[in-house]
This record gives sequence, C-alpha cells and structure tokens, in this order.
Amino acid sequence: MPVLVMKFGGTSVATLDRIKRAAKRVGLEVAKGYDVIVIVSAMSGKTNELVGWVNETSPLYDAREYDAVVSSGENVTAGLMALTLQEMGVPARSWQGWQVPVKTTDAHSAARIEEIPPENITEKFGEGMKVAVVAGFQGVSPEGRITTLGRGGSDTTAVAFAAAFDAERCDIYTDVDGVYTTDPRISPKARKLDKISFEEMLELASLGAKVLQTRSVELAMRYKVKLRVLSSFEEPSDEAGTLVCDEEETMENRPVSGIAYSRDEAKMTLISVADRPGIAAAIFGPLSEAGVNVDMIIQNIADEGRTDMTFSCPTDQVMRATKALQEAHDSGEINFRDLVADTDVCKISAVGIGMRSQSGVAATMFKTLSDEGINIKVIATSEIKISVLIDRKYLELAVQSLHDAFELETAG
Ligand code: ASP
Ligand code: MG
Repeated sequence: MPVLVMKFGGTSVATLDRIKRAAKRVGLEVAKGYDVIVIVSAMSGKTNELVGWVNETSPLYDAREYDAVVSSGENVTAGLMALTLQEMGVPARSWQGWQVPVKTTDAHSAARIEEIPPENITEKFGEGMKVAVVAGFQGVSPEGRITTLGRGGSDTTAVAFAAAFDAERCDIYTDVDGVYTTDPRISPKARKLDKISFEEMLELASLGAKVLQTRSVELAMRYKVKLRVLSSFEEPSDEAGTLVCDEEETMENRPVSGIAYSRDEAKMTLISVADRPGIAAAIFGPLSEAGVNVDMIIQNIADEGRTDMTFSCPTDQVMRATKALQEAHDSGEINFRDLVADTDVCKISAVGIGMRSQSGVAATMFKTLSDEGINIKVIATSEIKISVLIDRKYLELAVQSLHDAFELETAG
C-alpha cells in the first residue's frame, strides 16, 4: 500500500471537535487506499503552558526533564486521535517517539533525528492497522531519554517519517491555506502560491515566514519529499494548498516569488577598529562563542589603517553581543573607539529562484525603496535572495511597495 503522511498542527487539534474533523480527513485518505501515518502536535497553547511550568519550577532547568515535560502535549493528542479514528471504525493506534523508535541525538530541547527504523510500524500495517498516529516533536536519545526537536519540531517529524517510509506525499495541515507571496496581514494583495521550490521555501522559512520549521524544509529538500501545506479548515480538494517541490516542477519562473521580513533585527557597528589580518576572526569569534547569531556583515574601506565593521543580529541578542565585544576590547584582543547599537531596524528580503537567470532584481528593489524615501542601511545577497536592513517604521511600506513592484498580486 502506498504510504501518506498527514501532519496536524496545534490549531488543527485544539479541541475534541477539531480532532474529529482532522480524523475525518484521515478517513478519506484511508478510503483511497493509503496506509496513513498521522503526526500530531500538541493542542494549541499546550506546549507554551508546559514550557512555562518548567521555567517556573526551575529557571536553570535540566534539559532532560524539560523534554520529559514538554513532549507530553503530543502524547495526549496522539492518543485522542487514535481513539477518534477507532470510534469511526478505522483501525488505528498511537505511537510515542520512543516506541517507533524515533532515534535522535542527545541534544536535549534541540535534538536531531538520526534514524527512524520503519519495521515496527510496517509490521502493524501488515496486520491490518490502517493509521499509525505518531506524537510529533519527540524522540529518544542513545541513552534512552526522551528528547524534543525544538519548537515547531513536529513539521520535522512529519518530513522525517515521509522520508523513512518513502511516502507518496507529506501533507502539513495548518491554520493557513498555503504559502503566500508575503504576510497577508501586512499586504492585503498577498497571494497564495500553488507551488514553490524547496530552495525558496527554505529562504522564506529561515527569514521568518513561520509556516514550516526550517529544518523540515531542509530535510524535504535532501530526501525529495513532496510537501504540501494546506488548511484543515477548508473543504478537502486535490488542488488545495501550496506544493513545495523541486525547481523543475515549479512552472513559473518569475524573478521574485515572495517578500519576507523579520521585525526584530538590530544593527551593531564597531567604530574605528584596526584593519589588520585576523580582525574579523577576533570580532566574530567571541560573538559566536557568546551564541550571537550574526546575519549580515559589512566592513568599510579602511582609512589610515582603521575601519568600521557593521553586523546585524536579533534584537534580543544585543546585550550578549555588547558584553562579548566589550570583554574582547578590555582584554586587548580587539580595539575600537565606539560600539553603536541600532535596535530600530528590520530586515526585508526578496526571494526567488528566477533571480539566478534574470538581472535587474536588485536595481528594482533599491529603486522602489528609494522612491518611497526609505534609506537602506545594510545590504546582503545570496543567489536567490536580496536582503536589506531599513528603519523598522518603514516595514509595512517596504513590504507593500516591493510586493507591488514585483507584481506579486498576479502570482499564484
Ligand atoms: N508542540 C510543539 C511546539 O509547539 C511542536 C510543534 O507543534 O511543532 O513547538
Ligand atoms: Mg508549527
């Protein structure tokens, strides 16, 4: 029997009624002849509540016990989903991560899946079970302790199962009906895309479009898992949602497929550092040790042996970055005249595989922003992405005007 993976996010299993509605969709696929693996999240809000309890009990918690607590939300929905399917007459049972087993590393609270041996579940399918309901987000470490995969991790569970079972498709049911050209809350002209390539989705996910956990997209790309993002609140249809697939399968070749943004960026500048071999290592080494996620970097042309170095990082890491740089300064590893943090910036990115073959995307982007009187503070590019840092107060205007400039209201 062909295998289908269906993942239901927190809002799709938020109440017993919604679990019933999701189970009906599963029943439709079983009727089509699939063996179905259902991956469930915890009921929406549950994981946050569990994380809160852990923090309240023990601010410097033991990550193994954090995992023991926060993984429990998924156990509840897995059992309830299996019971609901049984009530409908569909042979189903639940599986916790360790029972499959979903073997992971021992990096508690951020574990990676290493292997999912399919034998146990396949054997049950052979005995007539039609649906395996698996608790998402969790696994088991080499030491036999429960692990979790990081927030949003049940997307990654779903893709890993699709790869391990060579599933025909991995359907991710969520509360939006697909991947949009930009955030519809910011631009009412945003359009749902029928298809998007893995690479574009990867950029959008890591730039803050929160539909899918970034790692799930990486995994889907590596194992060529056909991913579909769709809403569990709309009528079932074969064309619903957005298909995330190989580049060759995406028909359109527009230069830009989406505009992403990230609101909480900060720009930090080291003024007048010595321009000498090793200076970048001396600055970014301590930052990385301090756990600062540096994103964009620019180094100015040196003037009389001194230069300015600018980088961006998430706003909530500014204090950590400042401390690391001040310490490096005080210990004589680096020497700067001043350290300036600008926490009122945001990052806007245009993403599209069409950029590889079509020129002029950067020019259009810069002209559009300049026509709106928006000053660009930092620019960074990759093969399929152009990102700029601008003042946060222009976020909406920038997203809307770029969405217009790249004619994304006609995408879809
Ligand atoms: N329940 C977990 C979370 O809220 C995992 C998930 O839903 O993907 O992060
Ligand atoms: Mg999610």
